[in-house]
Amino acid sequence: MIVKRKKLNFWERLYLPAIIGGFKVTIRHFFKKKVTMQYPEEKWVVPEGYRGAPYLVKDQEGRTKCVSCQLCEFVCPPKAIRIAPPGPGGSPEAGNVEKAPKEFEINMLRCIFCGFCQEVCPEEAIFLLKDYSLTGTSRQELIYDKEKLLALGGVHQDQIHKWKQKADEALAQGVAP
Ligand code: SF4
Ligand code: SF4
Repeated sequence: MIVKRKKLNFWERLYLPAIIGGFKVTIRHFFKKKVTMQYPEEKWVVPEGYRGAPYLVKDQEGRTKCVSCQLCEFVCPPKAIRIAPPGPGGSPEAGNVEKAPKEFEINMLRCIFCGFCQEVCPEEAIFLLKDYSLTGTSRQELIYDKEKLLALGGVHQDQIHKWKQKADEALAQGVAP
């Protein structure tokens, strides 16, 4: 089948109507509300419950909540978590958390923000917070260690006061908790 080429009329050969039409679209958009975000200076406000990067949190008294049970390490699909539990004699950390981890790492390059670690944690010690933009200049920089995870996670005002009872008992017996 032969498709006949349409002959251009005078105005079409001038191309001016097409150019003017293009300018009209440009001018219309020029006066519209700007929707371009100046990232990274401007960032999205993410909704409540957003699942960003997972961080470790501390309790109201500033103590590490994690007890090195390693459930999150076991359940993590891409194996992004690595935990070294405390050796014999417990954790060097002060307070009642005798099984606070010696090391706790999350490889943010592997993490898929699935939230399994948060769901499985019996101590409510790990939460997916709102950070969605993690950057670094090397792969090593994106492996977050325990100190960094705790600093980013901050204090979590939770409802579990599991050590309070023990501390109260210790105080009643005149022993420092
Ligand atoms: S959010 Fe998912 S992938 Fe990321 S550390 Fe937790 S379990 Fe692993
Ligand atoms: S973060 Fe939670 S699940 Fe993971 S080792 Fe600590 S206590 Fe266990």
